[in-house]
Amino acid sequence: MNIEYRMTNNEVGTMRITEIFYSLQGEGFLAGAPSVFIRLAGCPLRCRWCDTKYALEKTAGRQYGINQIVQAVQKWPSKYAVITGGEPMINSELTQLVKELKASGKHITIETAGIAFIPDMSCDLMSISPKLSNSTPSDPKLAAAHEDSRLDLAVLRELIDNYEYQLKFVVDSEADLPEIQQTIEEIGNVDLAKVMLMPQAATRDELLAKSPMVAELCKKTGFAFCQRLQVLLWNNERGT
Ligand code: SF4
Repeated sequence: MNIEYRMTNNEVGTMRITEIFYSLQGEGFLAGAPSVFIRLAGCPLRCRWCDTKYALEKTAGRQYGINQIVQAVQKWPSKYAVITGGEPMINSELTQLVKELKASGKHITIETAGIAFIPDMSCDLMSISPKLSNSTPSDPKLAAAHEDSRLDLAVLRELIDNYEYQLKFVVDSEADLPEIQQTIEEIGNVDLAKVMLMPQAATRDELLAKSPMVAELCKKTGFAFCQRLQVLLWNNERGT
């Protein structure tokens, strides 16, 4: 599937945003950093355990001018801006947003499933979470479309070759490990120090239950453990 098929076309200079909020980065190597989150609307995937289902439709949220987004981000003292979704990399105006946020002095992370590539963006970190078979929804129609789009090795290679990155794999059970290792091998050229394993958990109880298993996998493989501070602290309440 090519990027044009997936691209969410916005009016030039505008984007659909479901929320802009100030919190702590909960995941990845920057976990704990106070950050402003800009959640874009639209994602072609339908992961079984998606915790932002309200952001999946490209008509979700409301239209913002890019200037309005940049102004909204300035309300808070953080140096860190996180562009998330939904799937930011399908948005036709993403390059412009990144450019203007960068000009305002922000450190920019883009959180993506790694299903589309956009070149030459001045973002500081591409936080990539490739989707494994554990993300496939049970509805057969949704499952077929999901399987068709969830993993694009060529796109993942382009992302890691062209951007500073981290790779976060969502672990539902120990049985996911061979698929993670095979995916890393098939991508090729992955810096293993940038790979993280993250428990699949939408609630604090699930996170506490699955974290010891993921911690053991990290000790066994040498991959880093990926915290989900937003779930631990706020039980994944919206806007955190
Ligand atoms: S890729 Fe992310 S936003 Fe899209 S369905 Fe999966 S978890 Fe949700």
